[in-house]
Amino acid sequence: MLFRQLFEPQASAYTYLIGCPETREAALIDPVLETFDRDLAVLAERGLTLKYTLETHIHADHITGAAKLRQATGSKAAVPAASNAAHADVEIREGEPLMVGAIRIEPLHVPGHTSDHHAYLVEDRLFTGDALLIDGCGRTDFQNGDAATLYRSVHDKLFTLPDETLVYPGHDYQQRRVSSIGQEKARNPRLGGGKSLDQFVAIMAALNLPRPKRMDDAVPANQGCGEPV
Ligand code: FE
Repeated sequence: MLFRQLFEPQASAYTYLIGCPETREAALIDPVLETFDRDLAVLAERGLTLKYTLETHIHADHITGAAKLRQATGSKAAVPAASNAAHADVEIREGEPLMVGAIRIEPLHVPGHTSDHHAYLVEDRLFTGDALLIDGCGRTDFQNGDAATLYRSVHDKLFTLPDETLVYPGHDYQQRRVSSIGQEKARNPRLGGGKSLDQFVAIMAALNLPRPKRMDDAVPANQGCGEPV
């Protein structure tokens, strides 16, 4: 598999490029509008055709590059069905893998950060979006977020994968790049190390995070894959 981890500094957001070396088809997970030019250049450099853009969820901190990439490349905007996004070409559901050449992308519904959130398993790599971050997790206080639901998603669905599974998060504010299921199970200060459901709910309730700066423009834009609804 061809693979690149790409970084967008304003939102500290990772975009992931997955490509099939034989068919030269590719997908981008969570592309960001601001890095449209870079993403096109990375695709061209490797002679890849963008088949899909995939969203892990409706983001509140940046606008997706899906619509602009679709316009430029003819890619299909794949969004969780539960997001109810306008202008989506493909509705993502757990149990319905997406194929990029010979590469299979398995969606896993992991609600809790948002109700529509999906992680994507590709071979031994898990793209966790904001459900599970390195030593952390996404907030659970808006967009139908729910701490108890997130705890169950992570414990029942992600922590049951093999320990060697690589964890590629949707964000990292210290530019750490990769972890593993084994590492997060052992030492994630919120969700790992034997933390109970009640302990996790208490940790999340005490965070008192500020409202995301871009929430008012990002959420409505992402509800239309980056185009006006
Ligand atoms: Fe998010």
